Amino acid sequence: LLARRVAVPVGPGTLADGTGIELLANIGSPDEAEAALRQGAEGIGLFRTEFLFFGARTAPTVAEQQAVYRRLFAACEGKRVVVRTLDAGSDKPLAFLGTGVEENPALGVRGIRALRAHESVLRDQLTALAAADAETDADVWVMAPMVADADETGYFVALARSLGIRVAGVMAEVPSCALMAGQVLGIADFVSIGTNDLTQYTLAADRRLAAVAGYSDPWHPAVLRLVKMLGDAGTQSGRPVGVCGEAAADPMLAVVLVGLGISSLSMAPSALDAVRTQLRQHTLEHARALAVSALGASTAADARARVSEQS
Ligand code: PEP
Ligand code: MG
Repeated sequence: LLARRVAVPVGPGTLADGTGIELLANIGSPDEAEAALRQGAEGIGLFRTEFLFFGARTAPTVAEQQAVYRRLFAACEGKRVVVRTLDAGSDKPLAFLGTGVEENPALGVRGIRALRAHESVLRDQLTALAAADAETDADVWVMAPMVADADETGYFVALARSLGIRVAGVMAEVPSCALMAGQVLGIADFVSIGTNDLTQYTLAADRRLAAVAGYSDPWHPAVLRLVKMLGDAGTQSGRPVGVCGEAAADPMLAVVLVGLGISSLSMAPSALDAVRTQLRQHTLEHARALAVSALGASTAADARARVSEQS
């Protein structure tokens, strides 16, 4: 007898009504790309570039970076690759950034703040990315982490474009970025929501502190309301808004995010099948109804319970 196989849907992310939802992978080095694509990712939704910088006494050169980016883009021919510029801070100190000791590193000079203070590091990274993009056929998008408002968005997007980046966006990880979503999306080509940090900052709970882990739940309706602001601004501007935090890997939450206006979900490759399967069971109309229900909840547990009752 042949073992009975459970059919796992392959192919692009789609809802029951045929609406397409891009399913992308989060990776931390170019070596992970091929496996992610084999596991059914339609592209890379978050390439974390920190590995290039950590442990280095000096910043990697443009040529060194370009070689790494070229390898990744070549492995993703014809596919989307969203690259995040360096996300450093005093929680992840780098000798050449001279980051000092901070009492509250999560609230300190990190992400775009650190890059802006050391613009040559950002310029080199963007230059290397643009050069590798020009040499290959991937659809390269570049975004900055920890962007707080339209001013920082404008700074990053203008610099990126001036150095040859074709598609420049920002990560929404700070509540102010969501509250200013209309202005931010008036400038950025796209937004990707980092729900890990967005949850940490919305609930004011250190994501690395076990004692407050109970607060770190992206199902919290306060987080979902901020996601809705970004989703609505995306719909109004016609610019894509995706999610690349852990929330995208939770199949039922993924449906809720889609109902809030999210058009792509990026996650650990191992989560792709379960999310793809769940999305296929809901129409966009139903996803929106589930989102309304979750938004009206009082706690994360309440939001979960309401959604599971109706799905
Ligand atoms: C996030 O904050 O959700 C995110 C994707 O970035 P990181 O987890 O690397 O901070
Ligand atoms: Mg983050």
